[in-house]
Amino acid sequence: IKVFHSLRSPAPLPPPSQPLSITDHTLSLLRSDPAFSPFTTHFLIDSATGRRLSYSDFIRQFQSLSAALVNKFPTLAKNQVALILSPTSIHIPVLYFALLSIGVTVSPVNPLSTKSELTDLVGLSNPVIAFATSSVASKLPSSFPLGTIIIDSPQFLPMLQNHHSNFSSQQVKQSDTAGILYSSGTTGRIKGVELTHRNFIAITSTSYHNRFVKDENSPREHPVSLFPLPLFHVFGFYMLIRAASLGETLVLMERFDFENMLKAVEKYKVTYMPVSPPLVVAMAKSDLVPKYDLSSLLLIGCGGAPLGKEVAKSFAARFPNVDIVQGFGMTETGGGITSMNGPDECEHHGSAGRLYPNVEAKIVDPETGEALPPMKQGELWLRGPMIMKGYVRDKESSAATLDSEGWLKTGDLCYFDSDGFLFIVDRLKELIKYKAYQVAPAELERYLQAIPEVADAAVVPYPDEEAGQIPMAYIVRRPGSKISETQIMEIVAKQACSVSPYKKIRKVAFINAIPKTPAGKILRRELVKHALSRASSK
Ligand code: AMP
Repeated sequence: IKVFHSLRSPAPLPPPSQPLSITDHTLSLLRSDPAFSPFTTHFLIDSATGRRLSYSDFIRQFQSLSAALVNKFPTLAKNQVALILSPTSIHIPVLYFALLSIGVTVSPVNPLSTKSELTDLVGLSNPVIAFATSSVASKLPSSFPLGTIIIDSPQFLPMLQNHHSNFSSQQVKQSDTAGILYSSGTTGRIKGVELTHRNFIAITSTSYHNRFVKDENSPREHPVSLFPLPLFHVFGFYMLIRAASLGETLVLMERFDFENMLKAVEKYKVTYMPVSPPLVVAMAKSDLVPKYDLSSLLLIGCGGAPLGKEVAKSFAARFPNVDIVQGFGMTETGGGITSMNGPDECEHHGSAGRLYPNVEAKIVDPETGEALPPMKQGELWLRGPMIMKGYVRDKESSAATLDSEGWLKTGDLCYFDSDGFLFIVDRLKELIKYKAYQVAPAELERYLQAIPEVADAAVVPYPDEEAGQIPMAYIVRRPGSKISETQIMEIVAKQACSVSPYKKIRKVAFINAIPKTPAGKILRRELVKHALSRASSK
């Protein structure tokens, strides 16, 4: 086999030339279920306050907001970018849908971003308008041509009520850019991942038509999901749209807190949670778990980073009635592109599931470029209608990541078994995933290299049960320097104004020289091997 295809039936997609926004597509999927009532089904629940929005309220609010924006900003045009800097709240889905429905590109940013990170992101995506909460708005770097709208100000709420405009949704083309999400891709530099309406239409249809069926005979229900995921990351962004297409009820958490999450599962009888692996570890181990009635829970979707087999097993021992569906996805694929479907597939611990329909994959030998058969490891390449358009304003990185035939080079070392299950072995790319947050080694290396007593430095991922990986620094000290591990960690942590809280060095080792290729590229894998052999010989 040279190209791996999905074993599932393809999801029907609208013709690419048909004008269609992701919001109209989502609403049409939602309305295709005759049993669904927008008046009686809640879409959003704020877990802290218990505030709820029914589907009909949600649709009314986002349509009013889009009309208010069109009326207030006559120059606001399709494919212009709106930056969003806010913790999760009930207003965020309303805002996403309002902007997407009029073709404005949504660019959500981690609210923990620092001023200097925001300056970089704004330089990439060039927003004309920003939406921010008052708690974080002061971090925004510059004034935007159409200004900044404060989401929790008296100015915002009236926009959600009773506005009408004659904007026709037919004006949005599938090729228009729906979102710019940020990722460092396979190298250190942050990039804006440009995803079109077509990309999201494809990924939503794919997961809509291939949703997990626990029991073929059970009637379609409208389960209750709890989102501990941030909505600015692709996982949360696409799961939100997916939930709307399926008529699910979503419980949102403004700030993640493990015990509050358990309380919310009990209170709102949550049936499904999409999570990243550290949360599965906590669910499997925490002493808080037995204090709550979590019997409503049926399914956990886990992705973003590898989930250890042992963790999956200890979770299963504690929650025998809950299936864990593992999936693989990346910002560049607009969401998950593999998963396990049905309880039998969930037994394949350690795998990230099977390809979604409409996705093709290759396993490519990184040395020779040759496509490899099942059971052979190589770089995973992906192709399909959900793959990003490219990195915004970065032709060089786009060309290095997407080839002329449309294949996306993931930077992940993987193999397929003979039953089509994908296994992710390692990361060829530089990215470190700390609790599923991206940490780019190059960024932390810059801080380390700026320390006068440091002659050279390299940052590598070190395996950690709770976080998945932690950033570990290898340091070459200047001759005569006695700088300690703790001092180094403190110096980097103190740069708090320019380093986000999760971007810390959490382990340090000293070495005589950083191993490098003749071209000067750090041989990170050698360092990881070195760290692991040191740990095992202790
Ligand atoms: P992001 O763009 O932040 O979603 O990061 C994408 C990267 O996360 C992928 O290229 C993988 O390296 C990693 N990743 C995502 N899902 C999984 C998974 N199920 N197992 C292992 N790594 C994963």
